[in-house]
Amino acid sequence: MDCEHPHHLDAALAALGDDPAATVLAGGTDVMVDLSFGQPHPVHVIALRRVVESAEWQEGRIGAGVTYRRLERGPPGALAQASRTVGSPQIRNTGTIGGNVATASPAGDTLPVIAACDAAIEVASRDGGVRVVSWADFFTGVKQTSLRPGELVTAIVFPDPMPAHHEFAKIGVRNAMVISMVSACVTRSEDGTTRVALGSVAPTPLRATAAEEMISAETNPGESALTEFSRLVSAAVRPITDHRGTESYRRHASGVLARRLLERCLRREPR
Ligand SMILES: Cc1cc2nc3c(=O)[nH]c(=O)nc-3n(C[C@H](O)[C@H](O)[C@H](O)COP(=O)(O)OP(=O)(O)OC[C@H]3O[C@@H](n4cnc5c(N)ncnc54)[C@H](O)[C@@H]3O)c2cc1C
Repeated sequence: MDCEHPHHLDAALAALGDDPAATVLAGGTDVMVDLSFGQPHPVHVIALRRVVESAEWQEGRIGAGVTYRRLERGPPGALAQASRTVGSPQIRNTGTIGGNVATASPAGDTLPVIAACDAAIEVASRDGGVRVVSWADFFTGVKQTSLRPGELVTAIVFPDPMPAHHEFAKIGVRNAMVISMVSACVTRSEDGTTRVALGSVAPTPLRATAAEEMISAETNPGESALTEFSRLVSAAVRPITDHRGTESYRRHASGVLARRLLERCLRREPR
């Protein structure tokens, strides 16, 4: 096995341009699991760990190589909350936001945050330059993205300013080291604009747009508006039944979780 350790993005993009079939390795927390489950061993690995640009974090532009460890200690809010729920300290020390996005698992915990915040994915290649892809165009199916051969995820770009309130939570069979059965992120701006994104309930992160429209029109949502919001979220999701949970439980839990997060947003002072 040939393993390259470029120190700069240009060198990483050049290596991938020469061999678009090479295995890209960031923290390795997904790659190594795949290998343990019988994926063919890679012939050529491009390891991104030493790429200095990858670890850069400037305001809303978060380098693909930023780890959960750094995110959970970053500005308080949904992304820090989501990062805190990922795996164990060992996983959070090495796993990256870029790896989460590139893996595109329906259960990826940063994905609902990215979707609710309308963040974009910055990608680059040696021959194609830089593209900024909206989250909705980036995630195309279960573990499927619109990343082209030779492209790397270089950053996740969040809006500046972020919505005043943003909250994330997930439900699993236990509190730690758990893949989510349902995850959700709700954002609310000072003008009442509300966004709600769900994870683990569809092939890609999903926005409950009817619920968003209804609740955004409510300046001070009361019990009936919150109940309707919850109902519309439950109606929007497209879950499956699997070993982690049933379709009906996930549908019910989506509405409950989204309502809880909205209530937290409504109680909070601006960040
Ligand atoms: C025990 C355990 C618990 C876990 N718990 C959770 C959890 O609670 N929540 C959760 O969301 N995930 C969880 N995961 C999954 C994993 O930790 C995350 O998906 C992580 O973000 C992957 O990042 P990484 O840097 O380790 O990626 P890697 O494993 O290095 O790469 C993952 C994939 O992305 C590609 N890739 C990586 N970086 C780039 C890039 N910059 N450009 C293009 N392609 C790239 C790789 O080629 C590979 O296909 C868990 C994993 C383990 C092993």
